[in-house]
Amino acid sequence: MSIKENYDRIKSQIDAACLRAGRSKDTVKLMLVTKTVPLDKLKQTIDFGHFLFGENKVQELYEKKSQLLNVNAQIHFIGHLQKNKIKKCVEYADVIQSVDHLSLAKELNDYLLKINKTKDILVQVNTSNEQSKFGVEPDQAIELIKKISQLSQLKIKGLMTLAKFSSDEDQVRPCFKTLKQIFDTVASMSIPGVSMEELSMGMSSDFEIAIEEGATLIRVGTAVFGKRDTSDSQYWPESKK
Ligand SMILES: *Cc1c(COP(=O)(O)O)cnc(C)c1O
Repeated sequence: MSIKENYDRIKSQIDAACLRAGRSKDTVKLMLVTKTVPLDKLKQTIDFGHFLFGENKVQELYEKKSQLLNVNAQIHFIGHLQKNKIKKCVEYADVIQSVDHLSLAKELNDYLLKINKTKDILVQVNTSNEQSKFGVEPDQAIELIKKISQLSQLKIKGLMTLAKFSSDEDQVRPCFKTLKQIFDTVASMSIPGVSMEELSMGMSSDFEIAIEEGATLIRVGTAVFGKRDTSDSQYWPESKK
């Protein structure tokens, strides 16, 4: 299967999931996750009209984005952000989806103040209750969001999660429900500077469930580009995937 065929298949699966969920299909954005995917493959998708990407490592984000500066492509950072990579990440990521700690948020804010810029972020929540996953614990998410909302340069636009890696739907779906619940609660609180627009959840193996549970942005890699050569433990320490 070519990248385009995979892409078209995913698109029709998204449409079908929206239909099942009684949602309009333009309420779900597809992000292509291009970690380990060479630039020429990414460019193939730009050629057929795709412009939203996700990267897990600042180095790869930088290498790709700096080759795409004259293209209207957006790349979000979706990995664990180390504090020594903040500058490059701020410079090259259109959105940082993986803010999960106040100390990280403060360092981001300090740097943004210095360069007089703001940045759209999502707060990552650990809905799977697994030690190996990054993200704030669900019961601490709202407190963290309130604190980050007071940092002038960070604009919280929504939430992100990785569900449990399991083929058992009953293990996966509750993760998405948890995130949606926090999303709705935060939205109802009308915290100044916080807008709940983006619910980033669902990957190749579980995006249809995520759409049924309210995802507005799904992050798909393998199902479009094929299996990665690099083990995902490179990206998620102690990952069981
Ligand atoms: C790799 C990755 C994805 C995509 O995973 P696939 O199973 O390849 O679709 C989504 N989100 C994050 C945070 C990732 O690291």
